[in-house]
Amino acid sequence: MLAPTYHREVGELFDHHIHSDRSDGTVSLQGRAKTVSVRPHGVSDHYPWKEKMRDDDDVLRYLDDAARLGLRVGLEFDLGVAPSLRPSTRDALHYVIGALHQVEVAPGEWIRYDDAGAFLKGRVHAYGEAQRYLDADLQRRIRERTLEVVREGIETERIDILGHATMGPLAALGDPERALPAEWQERLIRTCVDADVAIEVNEAYGVPHREFLERAQRLGARFSVGSDTHFELRPLDKTMAMIRGASLDESRFLAGRRVREAV
Ligand SMILES: [Zn+2]
Ligand SMILES: [Zn+2]
Repeated sequence: MLAPTYHREVGELFDHHIHSDRSDGTVSLQGRAKTVSVRPHGVSDHYPWKEKMRDDDDVLRYLDDAARLGLRVGLEFDLGVAPSLRPSTRDALHYVIGALHQVEVAPGEWIRYDDAGAFLKGRVHAYGEAQRYLDADLQRRIRERTLEVVREGIETERIDILGHATMGPLAALGDPERALPAEWQERLIRTCVDADVAIEVNEAYGVPHREFLERAQRLGARFSVGSDTHFELRPLDKTMAMIRGASLDESRFLAGRRVREAV
C-alpha cells in the first residue's frame, strides 16, 4: 500500500475556539470529544451565558465534565461584561479567550456587535447600521474603549488569547485599514505582545484582516486558531487562506495550552 502523501494543512493547528451546548453551541461535550480525532481542538464556551454559565461553580462543573472526556477546556470570557473569575478557576482552565461582543462608549451607552457580527459572518448581505458608524467621534470612542477593555482583560482577568480582535461595527464598514488606523492596530497588538497574549485568527468572522496580522507578526505576536463554530466541525478554509495570505509562522501558534506565566 502506498503511504499517503504528506500534505501540511492548517487543520493540524490546534483549534481553541469551539462552542458546545454548555453555552450557545448545538453540539454536546460528548459530541465535541468525538471530533478531536478530526483535528486537534478544545472547547471554549461563553462566560457568562444565561442560566448555563453564571459563575465559578458553573465554570468548574463544565471544566470537570469536559476534561473527563479528554477535552482541553477554555472559556470565551465576555470582556467588559463578565463577572471576574476566581484566580484558581482561571488557573484550572487550560486557557481563557477574551472577546468583545459589545462596548460601552459612554456611561450607559452600549454599542452591540450582533449586526456587525452577522454581516461579517456572511449571514446578511448588507450592514444596515453602517451609516451610524461613519461618525468619526463615535469611531474614536469605540477604538479607545476597546483598548481599555482589552487591557483590563489582560491585566485583571489574565486572558491568554484575544478572540476575534477586530470584530465589530468598524470592521463591518468594509475597509478596516480606514476605520482602524495602523497606529491603533499597533497599540492593540503591543498590548497583547507585551503580556504574551495570543491574537486569534477567527474563521467565523474572517478577522483580523491581512494587514493587521502582518503587523502583529512583525511586532512579535503569538497567534491562535479559532473556528468559533457553534455547529459541526468544518474545515478551516478561511483560516488557512488568512494564515497563508499574511505568511504567518506556524510555530507562533498556541497548541491548546496557555503560555502566559501564572501570577
Ligand atoms: Zn465571540
Ligand atoms: Zn465564540
